[in-house]
Amino acid sequence: MVGMAGSLSNTILLHRFKFLLPFSSLHTKLITLSSKHKLGKSQFQFIRTQLSANYSTTQFNSHKTQIPNMQNGDDLIILGIETSCDDTAAAVVRGNGEILSQVVSSQADLLVQYGGVAPKMAEEAHSRVINQVTQSALDKANLTAKDLSAVAVTIGPGLGLCLRVGVRKAREIAGSFQLPIIGVHHMEAHTLVARLTDRNLQFPFVALLISGGHNLLILARDLGHYIQLGTSIDDAIGEAYDKTAKWLGLDMRRSGGPAVEELAREGDPKSIRFKTPMLHHKDCNFSYAGLKTQVKLAIGSKDIDAEIPLSSASSHDRRSRADIAASFQRVAVLHLEERCERAIEWALKMEPSIKYFVVSGGVASNLYVRARLDQIAKNKGVQLVCPPPSLCTDNGVMVAWTGIEHFQMGRFDPPPPADEPEDTVHDIRPRWPLGEEYAEGRSEARSMRKARIHPSLTSLIQGSAQPLS
Ligand code: ADP
Ligand code: MG
Repeated sequence: MVGMAGSLSNTILLHRFKFLLPFSSLHTKLITLSSKHKLGKSQFQFIRTQLSANYSTTQFNSHKTQIPNMQNGDDLIILGIETSCDDTAAAVVRGNGEILSQVVSSQADLLVQYGGVAPKMAEEAHSRVINQVTQSALDKANLTAKDLSAVAVTIGPGLGLCLRVGVRKAREIAGSFQLPIIGVHHMEAHTLVARLTDRNLQFPFVALLISGGHNLLILARDLGHYIQLGTSIDDAIGEAYDKTAKWLGLDMRRSGGPAVEELAREGDPKSIRFKTPMLHHKDCNFSYAGLKTQVKLAIGSKDIDAEIPLSSASSHDRRSRADIAASFQRVAVLHLEERCERAIEWALKMEPSIKYFVVSGGVASNLYVRARLDQIAKNKGVQLVCPPPSLCTDNGVMVAWTGIEHFQMGRFDPPPPADEPEDTVHDIRPRWPLGEEYAEGRSEARSMRKARIHPSLTSLIQGSAQPLS
C-alpha cells in the first residue's frame, strides 16, 4: 500500500521523522505514527532502518546477545528507580529475588501541606533527593554502579514531570556505565512484585491493584500479557481514603489511608448508610467520586471541625469521626468486594486454571481490605496473595524485579549514550494502559473518557513478537 506520504522523497520523510530519535522505544512509536501519517510499508521500513542505525532501538526487541553471562539469576543485579508520583524510591535486587537494598524518600510533608500531590512541588522534591536515594540504594547493597547488570525505571503511567526525574537519573547511570536500561510499567510492577514474594505464583492469575491513582482489575495471562477487566472511571480508592482523612482532620504524615484504617477500628461501620457505588452496573469498573461527596456531606452534617486535631477532639467528636471513618471504609471495601467477585468469575471463564488472586498497591496494606478480600478469594476457590506492606506502597524493589523479569526475556534497551544532552526528550508515558479491555467489561462511562496517549503495554509486547505485515 502506498499511503498519503507516498509522493514524498525518502530524504524528506527521514527529516520529518527525525524527532523520534531521542525516544528509546522507536519501533513502537513508529508503528503508531506510521498509521497516522499513512506510511507505505517500504517507507516505514526505510525510516526504521535509518533511525535505528543512528540511535536507539525498541524496548521489546531482543538484545540478549550483547549481554554475556546473564542467564544465571545470581549474576544479574538490577537497580530499580521509581518516581511516578510522590515517593522517590530506589532498590537493588538480584536476579534470584534477593533484595540487596531498598530506599524510599516520601513527600509526606508536602502531602500534609497540600492535601494531595502537587505535580510541580513533587517534581522539585524528587529532584532534590534522587541522587541521594539512588546512591544510598547502591551503598546499602555494598555495590557501585559498575557492579550492576542493568537499570530499570518507571516510565509510566504517572505524573510526567515526576517520571522525567527518574528516567533522567536512570539514563545518566546507564549511560555512564554503559548498562542496558528497562522501561517499566508502574502497574505491572505492583503486580509482578507478588511473584518475588510468592515464588509459587504462576501465570495466569487475577490481580486487583489499588493505590492513590489507580483501581485496576486484570487477568494476568503471562509476562507482558494482561487483560483489563475493570478500572476507575473517576477517583481511585486511595484518593478517597486520603480525602476522607484530610476532611476528618487526621494525621496525614503516613498518608491518609493508615490514619483512616486506624480510626475506623473505634467506630461503628453501620452507623452511616453510605450508598455502595455502581451497584446497577454489572461490570468491574470502579467509582469513588460519589462516595467522597457522601463523606463530605456527612462530615458537614456532624459539625466536625477538622482544624482541631484528633488528639484534642472531645470524646463525642472523636466518636463521630470514627463512625464516619468506619462507615466509609466498609462501603469503600464493599465496592471492591462486589467488583472482585465478578472479575474472578470472568477470569475463570477465560482461564479455568487460575489459582491465585493478587491484591497489591498502597491500599492493599490495609488489614481490613485484606481480610474482606481473603473471604472473596476463598468463596471463589482461589488463594489471596498480598505482598508485604512495604512492597505494596510505591517502592524501587517492584521496579527492579519487573526489570529482572523482562530482562530475562530479552526485553530491554541498549545503553544510552554517555554524553546524552540535558534537553533530550525521553520516552515517558503518563497515560499508559496495561492491557486491552475485556469486551464484556466495557462501560459507556469509560469509553467516553478514553484519551489514550500510548498503546497498552500488552499490545506493544504482542505486536513486537509478530513480523510486520
Ligand atoms: P500511588 O498511587 O502513588 O501509586 P501507592 O501505591 O504508594 O501510590 O499507594 C498510595 C495510596 O495507598 C495512598 O492513597 C494511601 O492513602 C493508600 N494507603 C496506604 N496505606 C493504606 C492503608 N493502610 N489503608 C488504606 N489506604 C492506604
Ligand atoms: Mg503505586
